[in-house]
Amino acid sequence: MEGTVGQKEKQHEFTLVSVSDLASSSSESQSKPVVARFSDDSGLAELRFHKESESAAAINVDLRTAQIFKLSSVQSVCFTEGSDSTEEKSSYSRGVTVQFRNEEESRAFHCAFKQWKEEILEGKALPNGTISATKCKFDDKIEASSAKMYFHYYGQLLHQQNMLQDYVRTGTYYAAVIENRADFIGRVVVDVGAGSGILSLFAAQAGAKHVYAVEASEMAEYARKLIVGNPSLGQRITVIKGKVEEVELPEKADILISEPMGTLLVNERMLESYVIARDRFLVPNGKMFPSVGRIHMAPFSDEYLFIEIANKALFWQQQNYYGVDLTPLYGSAFQGYFSQPVVDAFDPRLLVASPTYHVLDFTKSKEEDLYEIEIPLRFTASVGARVHGLACWFDVLFNGSTVQRWLTTAPGAPTTHWYQLRCVLAQPIYVMAGQEITGQLRMVAHNAQSYTLYLTLMAKMWGPGAEQGGIIQASSCKLDLKEPYYRMSQPQAYPLAQDQQSHPLINTQDIQIQSQDFEEAELMQHPSPNSGAQMNSMAENN
Ligand code: SAH
Repeated sequence: MEGTVGQKEKQHEFTLVSVSDLASSSSESQSKPVVARFSDDSGLAELRFHKESESAAAINVDLRTAQIFKLSSVQSVCFTEGSDSTEEKSSYSRGVTVQFRNEEESRAFHCAFKQWKEEILEGKALPNGTISATKCKFDDKIEASSAKMYFHYYGQLLHQQNMLQDYVRTGTYYAAVIENRADFIGRVVVDVGAGSGILSLFAAQAGAKHVYAVEASEMAEYARKLIVGNPSLGQRITVIKGKVEEVELPEKADILISEPMGTLLVNERMLESYVIARDRFLVPNGKMFPSVGRIHMAPFSDEYLFIEIANKALFWQQQNYYGVDLTPLYGSAFQGYFSQPVVDAFDPRLLVASPTYHVLDFTKSKEEDLYEIEIPLRFTASVGARVHGLACWFDVLFNGSTVQRWLTTAPGAPTTHWYQLRCVLAQPIYVMAGQEITGQLRMVAHNAQSYTLYLTLMAKMWGPGAEQGGIIQASSCKLDLKEPYYRMSQPQAYPLAQDQQSHPLINTQDIQIQSQDFEEAELMQHPSPNSGAQMNSMAENN
């Protein structure tokens, strides 16, 4: 069953600041807000603008002929063969300027306009009766080519297998669900981005009454097969193929389960889909598995890594490459290499200060909160070192009623397919033990399902003259989370320099990891062949 429910009444309303007819000098808006209503209750797809307090339509727009253009982020103009309710049957070309309360509402209105035109006027039934304002949110903010590659990637079994074989990941989900049966027994569950359907099957094992497995990629067909092949669980699971932003479900969920984490937690921008699913499907105070994510950060010192990256650009310092001087491109190449975040498993002894973390509460965050994330940084160096950048990792919490369990990707903990991530500064900074390091990590979402990272680290200059104060060393870099450098080395036993002794101060396991069950499990030390180059363009590190 594809989750289709009966047709409901089709209409969709927006409140606007004002509407004015280009042909007339008067504005319909003046003091009262205006309501724009899409409907087909007269049997004709129509858009009506009327004042909130008046039921009579002031301006009718026939959607068959109407077109809409954006004038600014909050203003649009709609051209139509119009008929005025006060002058019945008179029909003429007209332009209507529409003023929205904000950009978000303007976008939602444009979405609705497009859908009503396309879906009703082309004779297609609206899916499941209603149009959701969020329906084309995904398409609005994500480049079509990125989405196409993304869902193509997840449509392949080999990539789902890569995630299933991360035993730390899958095992922690399994344990979190099974140990918290009480949260699942007799409950309705939605699996957000179900992939192969594995988490839906876990939820059914834990006694869920019904699970809706929503998956946008072609993997939905394989999930169906897997579920049919496990009939004792499968009879309580319905696979629904589509984006969580647009599908309709016949009932609300008591609990959402999902694995929306990418590199640095936020890569792939699937957390936004997770919170949209929460707003669309979850009952008030329903549970989310996971409910919280934390991004952990600490400055690191790694001379080997720094030299390795700087050396890559050296190629462009050749003045006689088959008779060609490559040096004009050296600067760009150098910058290019330092704009790639490094993904690998590193030794936690490389950290030069205790980590700090930033919390994302999936139960409360708004989708828009994830568009731009600004994290102020403040550390105290535990050793004297050359700081080469910021090391980051994440964990998520399954806040079960019976057991709380964290899934961590910390350095030193069993390695996952997410590894850890390091932002390397082209200009290292020098610190002494006890010195303060400040700065900021700003992450700005972009339309290729990832983020641009802006990192600044600062420390006071030390040595002679430091007492005079005020001299700051600052180093900044801009990185694209979509283009990481997969450096799939083994966690290395780094020889410790004299001034870089192991510091008991730093404990990346600042939270209790209850993963004893998995200590014996195969650790993902050997990356699968597809975890590097294949993932390069998409960074599907889910
Ligand atoms: N839950 C599975 C798969 C996790 S990978 C597991 O734990 O093994 C994330 C999955 O979410 C992918 O299969 C991807 O296609 C799907 N997905 C991502 N964004 C989605 C969206 N907006 N709507 C529906 N599915 C989505």
